Amino acid sequence: MSTEKKKLQFDCSKCTGYCCSYDHIEVSEADIARLAKHFKLSVTAAREKFIKIVEGKTPVLRHRKDHIFKTTCTFFDQDKRCCTIYAARPSVCRQYPNGTTCGYYHFLRFERRHADDETMIP
Ligand code: SF4
Ligand code: SF4
Repeated sequence: MSTEKKKLQFDCSKCTGYCCSYDHIEVSEADIARLAKHFKLSVTAAREKFIKIVEGKTPVLRHRKDHIFKTTCTFFDQDKRCCTIYAARPSVCRQYPNGTTCGYYHFLRFERRHADDETMIP
């Protein structure tokens, strides 16, 4: 088996941050503890401030309104289009998109190439 690291075929720094607009960005207890430590809060305070429960049982990150997508994660910088808590982000954010390609980035590149505009947002 090859140990060669595969090159990523997406660049989050050129993206609008679509993945941060997913409605349900699920967090674990370890993720909440990491957020609490990052913000120097108790776990209870971090849970109240940053997390909401959906479908009666699943903890997810809170959202706020966005000017490109309907809403984005509360930790998303909506002007710079990047994460403001990168070192403390939940594990699901670390794993996404779980490979070397990102479907949204592929779509974004395709639309920008066709529009001949590297900044357009489809
Ligand atoms: S949608 Fe894909 S390219 Fe865009 S920020 Fe998320 S992982 Fe990066
Ligand atoms: S924590 Fe950061 S990477 Fe995860 S959804 Fe929110 S802004 Fe995006």
